[in-house]
Amino acid sequence: MTLSRITLKRGREKSVKNRHPWLFSGAIQRVQGQPEVGELVDVYDKQNNFLARGAYNPRSQIRIRLLSWQVDQQIDSDFWHGRLERAIAGRQTLINQTDTNAYRLVHSDGDGLPGLIVDQYDEWLVVQFLSAAVEVHKETIVESLQQLLTPRGIYERSDTEARKKEALPQTQGLLVGEEPPEQITIAEHGQSFLVDVRQGHKTGFYLDQRENRRKVAKYAAGKRVLNAFSYTGGFAVSAGHAGASHITNLDSSAAVLELARQNVSLNQPERDDTYEVADVFQQLRHYQQTEQTFDLIILDPPKFVHNRSQIEKGARGYKDINMWAMKILESGGVLASFSCSGQVSADLFQKILFGAAVDAGREVQIIERLTQGSDHPISLTCPESDYLKGLVCRVW
Ligand code: SAH
Repeated sequence: MTLSRITLKRGREKSVKNRHPWLFSGAIQRVQGQPEVGELVDVYDKQNNFLARGAYNPRSQIRIRLLSWQVDQQIDSDFWHGRLERAIAGRQTLINQTDTNAYRLVHSDGDGLPGLIVDQYDEWLVVQFLSAAVEVHKETIVESLQQLLTPRGIYERSDTEARKKEALPQTQGLLVGEEPPEQITIAEHGQSFLVDVRQGHKTGFYLDQRENRRKVAKYAAGKRVLNAFSYTGGFAVSAGHAGASHITNLDSSAAVLELARQNVSLNQPERDDTYEVADVFQQLRHYQQTEQTFDLIILDPPKFVHNRSQIEKGARGYKDINMWAMKILESGGVLASFSCSGQVSADLFQKILFGAAVDAGREVQIIERLTQGSDHPISLTCPESDYLKGLVCRVW
């Protein structure tokens, strides 16, 4: 079958040749045929040279998600099966499955599967179809996942804003197998967590911070910890396990703090920590005014920057919380500060912390640089798949 043919504007073939998987509408000169949502198309340069094959979405700014750069590559069920198999195989050596049973199996463009997320929580898979390219092949993909992994059930969490950009409706529910329980108990580095895959953020848990929770925990023994933006207590459980003397957890949501409390007591029923519903921006100022200090502060805010136009405002937000956190740290204390905004580069993030340190009047050293877990691989041809950055700093 011949596919609809897309011709690029002169000079717009560079990113395609560099194998970037996104092709924006502005690069397209001509569309021959009437490709529908998710339909496969062939991309040619102005001189009629074949460049790549991908899935078209007439309603998205990312008009084509490129899938292959080989003219003889069929995009059929074997193709999808092969990509999934490769992604899953890549995880086998990464995770110690005796102490961790929750991890990302498919990381969208990072795994050459644009818009597809597959997370494993114990015996269940939780999936997101965030592009038309994968949405139209949902059945094939789900079938392959069943064959490759035999999960108890596959639950879909495509109830996210990202679907709007692809003009896809938000949807959520069981795709195959058994309904997951209200809370799935997972193990991470031998610690237990309850995960609500129906209502939790993303697919239920911030799996991308798994390694960082362990790395930050080594600064927690005997320390008074402030866990800001705590969500369901990921960093609280690991810091508690490492022997923190007291942990103050802050989040604007009472519901997630309740789950944080349950998660901590599941692991260490004897702990007596603080869980406060508060706005971190205000609460940090309050601590400074009331002269409360901490030995270790973890700042893991939600994404402040969703598109380029928000970079400046987002940078101000990051600077604000980091400056106040530095002010309320004891001398020699540790700040573990994160940004999950892909648009904020590692370089910019470091500059933001520099500005915060100058304004806080503190001397600050970087002692560790952190990134997303290795089950969230970064494709060299898709820098957007590199989003999470963290700096662990000693503050004097
Ligand atoms: N560190 C967590 C993930 C944090 S997600 C983990 O490892 O699991 C970010 C959290 O910040 C969410 O739970 C959200 O409810 C909370 N949040 C967002 N804005 C906030 C604000 N201004 N003040 C306090 N909490 C906020």
